[in-house]
Amino acid sequence: MSEVTKRAAGLAALALDRVLPSRNSERVGVLMYHRTAPTTSVDANDQLNVPPGQFRAHLLGLQELGYNFIGIDQLINWLNGTTELPDNSVHVTFDDGYACTAQFAAPILQELDIPATVFVNTAFTGDSDAFPFDPNRSRYGDAGVDPVNYRPMSSNELHGLIADSTITIGAHSHSHSNFVEHPEDFDEDIMLNTKILREDYGLESIPFAFPYGVVRLGYAGGELSRRISVLNVTCAFSTEPELIDRSDDRYCLGRFSAYPFDTPRTLAAKLNGWLGWISGARQLLNRG
Ligand SMILES: [Zn+2]
Repeated sequence: MSEVTKRAAGLAALALDRVLPSRNSERVGVLMYHRTAPTTSVDANDQLNVPPGQFRAHLLGLQELGYNFIGIDQLINWLNGTTELPDNSVHVTFDDGYACTAQFAAPILQELDIPATVFVNTAFTGDSDAFPFDPNRSRYGDAGVDPVNYRPMSSNELHGLIADSTITIGAHSHSHSNFVEHPEDFDEDIMLNTKILREDYGLESIPFAFPYGVVRLGYAGGELSRRISVLNVTCAFSTEPELIDRSDDRYCLGRFSAYPFDTPRTLAAKLNGWLGWISGARQLLNRG
């Protein structure tokens, strides 16, 4: 989706949210962040960076709107049917393992006592360069951007997050490869990813998020969900903008992207189910 389409869908969801009742009494929403860096990148259209002040405003605004932030264990226990959750439950996640998650997001989460999960690509831990899949990788150096804004987290930063009781670390593949083109590489890559997290960082139960994560393009669901289901992770998240229902495949759980142009109100509209409703309606309309 283009930024314009994403904004338009968010605003349409907001309009529906204002006139119709909440749709999430039996379902749970998960938010997905990437970078939370103070320097808004070299790319003015960068949708993956939500600066720390704005990230904090998202969380505080959602709390004011009546949202309850839950931890991943509560979410999994709810999926298992062993616990109930308060209405308007939401879980916060971060992908890739950026230094700025450790340096800027984690202190905010700690201050507000909000749990979160950080999905880490272990191949890049400690690198001083940007991630190889970062489209602006070659531009930061010339622009003189402080590396803390774009580099992967260091091993020490990862250890620091593990020691932080509000944070759970998850797997996001070792190499962040395109496993649609090479599904045969998936198992070995994930086993290396989780082995490093277990043996070098002492993790036990590990949730997972698919890199790229779009179900209709094969990055999650289907064959990759079947593969991850036997690789000893507790659950797996896609990037499909859908609320989680107890009957969902726990190896293909939806999440909503949080963008820099989102407000607590547009996030609430997504978490109330209206974004999924709009894309479902659009697919129906497009079918004819
Ligand atoms: Zn990723």
